[in-house]
Amino acid sequence: MKTVLSPEQRQQLATVLTYCREMGGVDFYRGIDDAHASIVEPISSLPEPTPIPNPVIAEPLPIMPPKSSLLVAPAAIDFSSPAIAPAARAAALEALRQEIGDCTRCQLAFEGRNKIVFGDGDPNAELLFVGEGPGADEDMQGVPFVGRAGQLLNNMIAAMGLDRKRVYIANIVKCRPPKNRVPEPAEANICTQFLFQQIGVVRPKLIVALGSTAATYLLGSKAALSVLRGKMHDCMGTRLIVTYHPAYLLRDPRQKAETWKDLQLAMKYLNLTPPKRSES
Ligand code: SF4
Repeated sequence: MKTVLSPEQRQQLATVLTYCREMGGVDFYRGIDDAHASIVEPISSLPEPTPIPNPVIAEPLPIMPPKSSLLVAPAAIDFSSPAIAPAARAAALEALRQEIGDCTRCQLAFEGRNKIVFGDGDPNAELLFVGEGPGADEDMQGVPFVGRAGQLLNNMIAAMGLDRKRVYIANIVKCRPPKNRVPEPAEANICTQFLFQQIGVVRPKLIVALGSTAATYLLGSKAALSVLRGKMHDCMGTRLIVTYHPAYLLRDPRQKAETWKDLQLAMKYLNLTPPKRSES
């Protein structure tokens, strides 16, 4: 016998079906024919639909890359395309910073990061330094190379006859790896996409890769630092040299002389002369 529903029951049933459809469960009821309709409980015994809570603005879902040993060669940026006008480069970098936002594109977002360390310096710099990743001081301040290694980098820049404000400084990853570990390839491969865009905006004449992690991801090569030093390389259409990371020089100051040789290579390419020592 067919059950005849009152207008109120129809309205109640419509509400329940809408609720089930929104919850993805409506298909569960398909295929029940008239012969079996009697097994459907009377509408009056159905539980009241649970009120749907007010929508909550969900946090953006983290995008977690698979752990990978993949090493991706740097994406080519066409340096023959029109460069962003020098006056507009600061705004272009700021737009990129906004695009990065409170980034959760790799695992480093979830491993104790305090601040994203975007980059620092002159948007029109001829010389661009790239390190590995932020340390504790950088993570607290949101600025690259501000700790002891940063002080040594400042001294290296001054020895070249430049000022830190005239160069641009960034890292392979923008978030601090826990316990200063080396970034995983998946983390570095994701984050360097932002670095390549920064390089594309600044368009330096020369990039200095500080340490093997920077060299690896900028050149797409796992060759040892000893093999890569002392030569001019090509990175995305611009010139690149490799030298030791200042943090390594703090641990092994004997390599400062070798680093100076690398910096002289850079100075020769950029036509820089070291400042005269003041007579005392
Ligand atoms: S390291 Fe780079 S990609 Fe990973 S969360 Fe930080 S900004 Fe995003």
